[in-house]
Amino acid sequence: MKRPTIKEVTNLLKELRTLVPNRPLTYGESVQVARLQAARFRAWAATTDEPAINLAGLINQRAVPVHFVPSHVLNEESGLTTDLMDDKLQVFINESEPQVRQRFSVLHEWKHVLDFPDAARLHHSLGVGNDNLKTLRIELIANEFAAHVLMPTNLVKRVWFKTQDIGLAASLFNVSPEAMNTRLTKLGLINRKTHPTTRAVFRTHGLVHLSHLAPCAV
Ligand SMILES: [Zn+2]
Repeated sequence: MKRPTIKEVTNLLKELRTLVPNRPLTYGESVQVARLQAARFRAWAATTDEPAINLAGLINQRAVPVHFVPSHVLNEESGLTTDLMDDKLQVFINESEPQVRQRFSVLHEWKHVLDFPDAARLHHSLGVGNDNLKTLRIELIANEFAAHVLMPTNLVKRVWFKTQDIGLAASLFNVSPEAMNTRLTKLGLINRKTHPTTRAVFRTHGLVHLSHLAPCAV
């Protein structure tokens, strides 16, 4: 898409923010809102129904500038959204990370941009007093937004039924295989038990169980 004007982006931010109830949200509500906003954002940004969304318009708009910076500037983090520089809301993305990761990070940060003015109220109840859990949940909500913009449910299903290949599906959406794997698992299109981490845990439990039994068997 061509570069949107500041007014167009400001109107979009306003519209996406009105999808959020004006009160503290539960984690489940926040996830639902993130998906709604993602669908609306995708409809605004995607000019075709190609799986891989073109993010040039978002990256080049000037209402909330997106800067690509070296890893050390961000202490090796993937991205940052802040208004502490020049009193202006801005996004910083780690340019050292793979391109597919940067695409995910830009959208993850865009969810922080959406929530920024009302973050204290919206996130107030998340984590029920546990700050680490609260931070984790805020990050997961931003991931949910990014995943749904990059990989909308209907398109993922359509591509998956044709390809049945995580690598190919990932390249069609221009996302990492890990992101595609997570999305397919959450949609129940692939079996969580085939995930390597889960299998390793299962095996470990099996070994512990066997060694525990061994003395009795002798
Ligand atoms: Zn974040």
